[in-house]
Amino acid sequence: MRKPIIAGNWKMYKTFEEAIEFVDAIQDKLPSNDKVDAVVCAPALYLPTLVQVASESELAIGAQTMHYENEGAFTGEISPNQLASVQVDYVILGHSERREYYNETDEAINKKVAAALAHNIVPIICCGETLTEREAGTTEQKVASQIKAALAGFEAQQVEHMVIAYEPIWAIGTGKTATAEDANQVCGAIREVVEDLYNAETAAAVRIQYGGSVKPENIAELLSKEHIDGALVGGASLQPESYLTLLEAA
Ligand code: PEP
Repeated sequence: MRKPIIAGNWKMYKTFEEAIEFVDAIQDKLPSNDKVDAVVCAPALYLPTLVQVASESELAIGAQTMHYENEGAFTGEISPNQLASVQVDYVILGHSERREYYNETDEAINKKVAAALAHNIVPIICCGETLTEREAGTTEQKVASQIKAALAGFEAQQVEHMVIAYEPIWAIGTGKTATAEDANQVCGAIREVVEDLYNAETAAAVRIQYGGSVKPENIAELLSKEHIDGALVGGASLQPESYLTLLEAA
């Protein structure tokens, strides 16, 4: 049985005060960690404080990106070593916004996955197609190539601890959600890619989230599908009530 994982991606939203208020508002109301992994991926500036504020609760704190080098002359970047030094548990890698606006390549994502694992940070590896690719019928090819590139060089045991997020780009922040059937179909195709690369046990163990306009109204149907093990959520993770509703649905 795969434990669901609901991860909020706050992107570049919330002031410091608002971020602390959010964590304070939810931490006593979280469902048990036996049932669901609750993660919030916050702006880097707030990570050490949020880790401390959430330290007595079941909430895990994640980053939204990182470099693959441990240190160096990379102005403005944050390293895996630095994230680990403030006890960050998760990192989103290869989000479509990072791929599009910051030229994050499949090759860099592969190196970042290795760096995250080296520091015991769980990578949430994003993949997904554009609207043009969906309309051309090449969705599964696109996500398969992104996932193969991200996983290149890893052992089956390492892959079992990773999280993959299928996020159709046309559904992110647009209010358009893939139907639960379509999302499940692509998540199932990703699981097959993992099985082909490794084995059936690894494919059965790896958690695959759906992301793209997930909200309290559609989460239950998405999570009822065989291959969808949780959600990566932008807009609906910003308000404590809606984030808690998503967790409760899991
Ligand atoms: C995201 O940021 O990964 C995302 C899926 O955003 P939203 O839920 O707002 O579509």
